Parts: sequence; C-alpha cells; structure tokens
Amino acid sequence: MFPKLKINLPAIAHNVKEVVSRAEEKGVEVVGVVKGCSAQPEVASVFLQNGFRWIGDSRILNFRRLIEAGIRANFLLLRIPMLTELADVVSMSAATLISEIETIKHLSNIASFANKVYDVIVMVDVGDLREGVLPEDVEAFVKEARLYEGVRIAGVGTNLNCYGAVLPTVENLSLLVDVGEKVKRMVSVEDFVVSAGGTGTLKLLEDGTLPKGVNQLRIGEAVLLGVDTPHQRKVPYLRQDTFSLMAEVVEVKIKPSVPIGEQSVDAFGKLPHFEDRGLRKRAIVAIGRQDVMVDLLYPVDDNIEVLGASSDHTILDVTDVQDDIAVGDIVEFNVGYGAMLLATTSPYVEKEIVKTE
Ligand SMILES: *Cc1c(COP(=O)(O)O)cnc(C)c1O
Repeated sequence: MFPKLKINLPAIAHNVKEVVSRAEEKGVEVVGVVKGCSAQPEVASVFLQNGFRWIGDSRILNFRRLIEAGIRANFLLLRIPMLTELADVVSMSAATLISEIETIKHLSNIASFANKVYDVIVMVDVGDLREGVLPEDVEAFVKEARLYEGVRIAGVGTNLNCYGAVLPTVENLSLLVDVGEKVKRMVSVEDFVVSAGGTGTLKLLEDGTLPKGVNQLRIGEAVLLGVDTPHQRKVPYLRQDTFSLMAEVVEVKIKPSVPIGEQSVDAFGKLPHFEDRGLRKRAIVAIGRQDVMVDLLYPVDDNIEVLGASSDHTILDVTDVQDDIAVGDIVEFNVGYGAMLLATTSPYVEKEIVKTE
C-alpha cells in the first residue's frame, strides 16, 4: 500500500551506537527520544538494543503503546505533565520533567498513595522561553518542592532550540550546571542528573565544550535522521538514510505554471504565489497534508521539485526528470523532522520496517 514510510533499522542502529560511544567517553547518559517517529516500537527496540537505557517521549499514550508492545525501559516523560494524566505518568514512566509546584503537589498524592517515590527533573529556563523555572527562582522552588512526600528531586534540566530557537552554548549550559550544584546540595541526591537537550547539544559533546557536570542529554532528531537542524548540518558520523517516504503517481500532465481564473485563498487559507515558467510537466502523487509536512519532503531525484499540496494531493514539477514518469510510478522522498512526525502519525501511511541491509 502507498504511501509508505520505510524505516531503516540498521541505519538507526548505527546512529545510536555512534552517539552512545561519544557520550560514554564523557560520562554522559543519552536519553533516546522517540517522539519524532511517534514512538514506533521497532525503533525504540533498536534504541535499547544498541546502548540507550532511557527512552524519552512527550506523550504518555506513546509509553502505553510501547509497554503494550512489550518494551521495557526507563521512560522519561519530556512534556511537563498535565494534572489529568498524573496517575498514568506515575504508573508508566520512571521520571518526568516538571516546572510547577501544583503539579508536584498532585504527583505527591498519587505517588504516596501508590507507595512509590517518583523522580522529577526540575526544568530551568535558561533562555529558550518554553518550559521551566527561571534560574533565580529555582532555589525557592526546590525548597518548597522537597517538602512533598513521594516525589524525589532527581535533577535539573533545560531545553533549548525549541520555542525561542536559542542555541545551546557553554554559557547557558554552565548556568544550568551552577543551578544544579545548588539544588544538589539542597536535596542531597547521589546520582543527581543535570539534563540538557535536544540534538543541538550534540555539537558541544563532539567539540569537547559540553560543560562538565552535564551528565544527561536528551537526543531525538540526530539519531532518527542523522541531522542537526539547530546547526543546519548533516552530522558527519551519522546516517541520513533512516526514513524514506514512497508515494504513487496518479496523474502526469503538461500544464501552465500559473492557475487560470480569479484567485482566492487555498484550502488552508493561504494565498499561494505562482511564478510563470510556461508549460511544465507535472505529476500528482497520492499523499497530502493529512499525511506529511509537504515543505519538508525532499525528492531523492533532485530534478523533481515539490510545487505544493492540498490534503490528499502533492504536485511535483517533473519536467527535468531524465526517465519518463508515468501513472503508477513510485516517487521516493527523504523527510525532515516535521514530515517524519506527521507520516508516522498518519494512519494513512503504511510503515515498512527494514530489518536488514
Ligand atoms: C523533543 C525533546 C527533546 C529531543 O529533541 P531533538 O531535537 O529531537 O533531539 C529533548 N528534550 C525535550 C524536553 C523535548 O521535548
């Protein structure tokens, strides 16, 4: 069935091993983040078989699916939890990131009732302005948080390169380490975690500039796709041939490059712009915005250009393609993070697991 997403497990295994060996050298534990591929169980298994001991995801539902698929691991919840999901959080994950006392209070009730001590990592906002306690407020936060039974303050963490697109640097991660030292003294935990992420932090690990004291990195994109979007690079020692998307051609015709008639907004409320390039040969593939982020589709044949898409149709310019493209042909694409995310989420995209090369 098409469209089809091929998931190349040996390529992912290679990436896991490379990242694990570089991290181990520096005494850093890597949490393998699977949310980018909607926690495909086969991918999580490859993560665990090749050296990751922690699996990170932002959604409890993904942990539930992994558990149902028989996967046992230390699960770290990456999205600061909703009050309404805390019972599942305690039963299905080993630890969560956290930034609100109110949440700790509820967690405490649930964990105490279950006779458990549940680990939390206090998020510190060092500048990206997504989740986290501001550095100057962390001590007061911890002072209060440590009064709650059933909850152990296992570490501090920060997230970068998400909302504010702030790059991880020696400065902002040193700030995290400093805050971490203070907190560690307050809670006297032996195996105290100082956790950074995501993929952008890998560069610091490679360059040897990751501040000493950071002992955990949460990494998804680099392992899944072999790229480091924050630094706009392919990671040289990682493989990029991990996920590829195949879509089937349903129409091939020569048409003008500018629509004919009075123009309004498209199906998504956007006003499209067209450049007049005369008559062009176009192919429609049966995949659309319901399945994939079309702007992050990269045709393997670089003579193909993605022109646009609606919910179910993606239009390609195939004028410059060497071989003839015909109805029924399959076009292959590499995917960016958002395209992988949607393609793995869409029930309309078949997933084909490639186990050997
Ligand atoms: C998604 C996420 C990560 C992993 O990010 P990548 O860029 O995919 O490596 C790490 N930490 C948190 C909190 C996240 O939400």
